[in-house]
Amino acid sequence: MRENREKREPRGEQQQFGGKRAFPKKKICRFCSDKNLKADYKDFRTIKPFISERGKITPRRITGNCAKHQRDVTVAIKRARILAILPYTTAVV
Ligand SMILES: [Zn+2]
Repeated sequence: MRENREKREPRGEQQQFGGKRAFPKKKICRFCSDKNLKADYKDFRTIKPFISERGKITPRRITGNCAKHQRDVTVAIKRARILAILPYTTAVV
C-alpha cells in the first residue's frame, strides 16, 4: 500500500512580525518560564488573566502559552466555572 496522503507540516510557532503588525503580544508561556506556577482551578488569580472580559478563554495564539499549559489552563478554567469561581459568560448590560 502506498501512502498517498501528504504529511501535513506542523505549523511553525514563530510568526514573522516584519513590517506592519503593531505590538505583538509576548509569546512566552508563563507556566514554562515559572516552574512554581501551576494552572490551578482553585487559584483564581492565576487563571483569571486567561479569560476575556466576556468570560471566554483566550486562545493560545494570544496568550502565548505552549500547548501543554494551555490545555492545563483550559481544564482549570472549566473546573473553576463549575465551581462558580469564574463566569461562563457575563451579562450584557
Ligand atoms: Zn508551557
